[in-house]
Amino acid sequence: MTVYANPGTDGAVVEFKSRYEHYIGGEWVAPVKGQYFENVTPITGQVFCEVARGTAEDIEAALDAAWAAAPAWGKTSVAERAGILNKIADRIEANLEKIAVAESWDNGKAVRETLNADIPLAADHFRYFASAIRAQEGSLSQIDEDTVAYHYHEPLGVVGQIIPWNFPILMAVWKLAPALATGNAVVLKPAEQTPASIMVLIDLIGDLLPPGVINIVNGFGLEAGKPLASNKRIRKIAFTGETTTGRLIMQYASENIIPITLELGGKSPNIFFEDVAAQDDAFWDKAQEGFTMFALNQGEVCTCPSRALIQESIADRFLDAVVARTQKIVQGNPLDTDTMMGAQASNDQLEKILSYLDIGKQEGAEVLTGGGRAELDGDLAGGFYVQPTIFKGSNNMRIFQEEIFGPVVSATTFNDYDDALTIANDTLYGLGAGVWSRNGNTAYRAGREIQAGRVWVNNYHAYPAHAAFGGYKSSGIGRENHLMMLDHYQQTKNLLVSY
Ligand code: NAD
Repeated sequence: MTVYANPGTDGAVVEFKSRYEHYIGGEWVAPVKGQYFENVTPITGQVFCEVARGTAEDIEAALDAAWAAAPAWGKTSVAERAGILNKIADRIEANLEKIAVAESWDNGKAVRETLNADIPLAADHFRYFASAIRAQEGSLSQIDEDTVAYHYHEPLGVVGQIIPWNFPILMAVWKLAPALATGNAVVLKPAEQTPASIMVLIDLIGDLLPPGVINIVNGFGLEAGKPLASNKRIRKIAFTGETTTGRLIMQYASENIIPITLELGGKSPNIFFEDVAAQDDAFWDKAQEGFTMFALNQGEVCTCPSRALIQESIADRFLDAVVARTQKIVQGNPLDTDTMMGAQASNDQLEKILSYLDIGKQEGAEVLTGGGRAELDGDLAGGFYVQPTIFKGSNNMRIFQEEIFGPVVSATTFNDYDDALTIANDTLYGLGAGVWSRNGNTAYRAGREIQAGRVWVNNYHAYPAHAAFGGYKSSGIGRENHLMMLDHYQQTKNLLVSY
């Protein structure tokens, strides 16, 4: 089917196939068991394509292809691999609008975000790792008069990757770019809620790589994800998803003693110290904008600033201002470039968020704005839309402790610095956090003392390829992005040679 940006105009267009197979060994391959599942767009709630429903047999076929491709790919020069990664980035940039519309239609997110952030970032991640791998060097050190130690970097071989549905293309690229740059062959399983946009991407870039270097097997967690993550033929598993699933991935990996990267859930605090309100100026404005980041990507962000901590002395004034700002968020057709907030990615996710809106009300939290389903007209009436919601309550409530993964922020107040830090760190999670203060010392100290892998100070939600990203506590193990990813996807060979 054909999907347009800015419906009713001649905006960017993407053509979806009515059926997507697996991508194995450079070809579209039907599932061994011949089964398919329906893929729905959250924008209207309609089925728009069917997708191969992978099983252990398809994973084995993909691993065969990856094992066949890995030795030659691993021996290509870094210059050659970097050249290919740069060509992939060129291809993505040349097809920016098409991929952005595909991502919006499949996931429900606003096309203005996919056009301006998700897809340009995806291209940049390929460029970053193309450059990073060229700068990597081995080392030589003298052990004693007769002996030297050489350190070489080698690809791991064949790696497994499993991703969620909230940023389908960007999450795939965060994993693919470093794995390919370091010479590994990959079997990747997309989320069953959002398989189509990744297949559009593969259709565009697949021919740039030798067959078998990238393999995509679609399907569900237990049917396709588990046979991949627990397979003896992978040398690493990289996973992004829920903390509960992450625990299972650790168990599977422990059987095979393979390295894991786990990027899991979050319940990120965003702290507003009283000095943000010292003047009605650009900083005061910026802090409010930082608060409303809870609605970015419909709140379906692992680092969603889902807990707002506001100093008591400014709380009423600040909350009035952010409620007014939240009520100006334009909800509508995600394909319309004026739309700021689109649809939740699936009906299950919609139901989960609505249940938490009920839980918050039952717990006695005050609804400052929102609090229910957003009813849109026409074709959008069947879509999965939620009002951006601000609760006011206390940090022991479930809406402060459990990941909702929707456009819902739970706000509370604090008295002083120590109080703020106690509340901020009173969570199972430790992925993202925000600190807002005009006082450099306060901001820096809080940034250091919050137990989270990424703390944004006086900004929120930037994800550059060269900034390490990952979680403390139950938010995960390992990091993504940054040069350190090269080590995550390589073995270090030490050769100790006597002459
Ligand atoms: P999920 O754990 O339900 O699913 C993620 C992936 O794992 C899917 O592809 C799914 O099919 C697969 N899967 C499910 N069960 C499996 C099993 N037993 N074995 C192997 N694979 C299995 O997560 P989700 O609902 O798709 O994603 C939302 C979660 O992802 C949130 O918790 C969010 O915070 C987290 N997330 C984290 C980051 C990060 O970088 N830390 C980024 C994005 C999303």
